[in-house]
Amino acid sequence: MNQKITYELPNGISLEIKREDLLHPFISGNKFRKLKYNLLQAKAENQETVLTFGGAYSNHIAAVAYAGKEQGFKTIGVIRGEELGDKIADNPTLQFAQECGMQFEFVTREAYRLKTEPDFIANLRQKFGSFYLVPEGGTNEYAIKGCEEILTEEDTAFDFICCAIGTGGTISGIINSVLAHQKVLGFPALKGDFLKDEIRKFVANENWELITDYHFGGYGKVNEELVQFINQFYRQTQVPLDPVYTGKMVFGVIDLIQKNYFPNNAKILLIHTGGLQGIQGMNLILKNKNKTLIDV
Ligand SMILES: *Cc1c(COP(=O)(O)O)cnc(C)c1O
Repeated sequence: MNQKITYELPNGISLEIKREDLLHPFISGNKFRKLKYNLLQAKAENQETVLTFGGAYSNHIAAVAYAGKEQGFKTIGVIRGEELGDKIADNPTLQFAQECGMQFEFVTREAYRLKTEPDFIANLRQKFGSFYLVPEGGTNEYAIKGCEEILTEEDTAFDFICCAIGTGGTISGIINSVLAHQKVLGFPALKGDFLKDEIRKFVANENWELITDYHFGGYGKVNEELVQFINQFYRQTQVPLDPVYTGKMVFGVIDLIQKNYFPNNAKILLIHTGGLQGIQGMNLILKNKNKTLIDV
């Protein structure tokens, strides 16, 4: 569903947002798309268990945990950060995942870096038996196939499609499904140059660009300006944004509009990839630092 954004915009520019956050109450936006064909594949392979990876506040971990419960899979989450093992009660994401039945394997940051190594995975198979592996963030060919279903016939008139980026899977599906006159702008939520090559592995089109100025210091980092923006955007439009992904992307798009980046009368579509479950965890961190909270 696309929602018109009633925001004061210059130069005849129009803005709509695709509310993928409303696809499912617990399986957030793009994670729903990314899991769809993965779970069909897991079933086709007769797997009973799905194992995946994520950080302390991961939207993907929450999504896999709930989808597993809903569809009858056991789920295992390999979690970055050994110290989180005795802090589940303080972490809304992990608590939710645990309530959904997810079993955790907490690993050190050093070990987590090895998560795609055959030895590391062989050890997990020895410990947990057979499982269907979904990579960190859910990104693989099945995920991209699912994300190719985000844009539909109602979206053909847009000139620009804007989307937040973590691992690059979501934007790859979008790039594969746009028309020749459309351009995809990706806003990485983290620092690093690796994303361009990552996305190139999955796409053939050239009509996309990364805008790397709006990561706010890195993955999961926020500042007062961003929090204020999210709160003000919500008051003005009634659209809640998350602080890790969509808040940064929409901040960037509004900033670029004000800097005349877009041509006159551009029709812009924002993809709301969800992630709202992360607000609670972020607010606990902000509260500890006596900072302004996200009040959406
Ligand atoms: C995971 C996530 C993303 C990033 O998606 P990728 O496919 O990893 O690039 C963007 N937005 C939200 C809300 C997410 O949870």
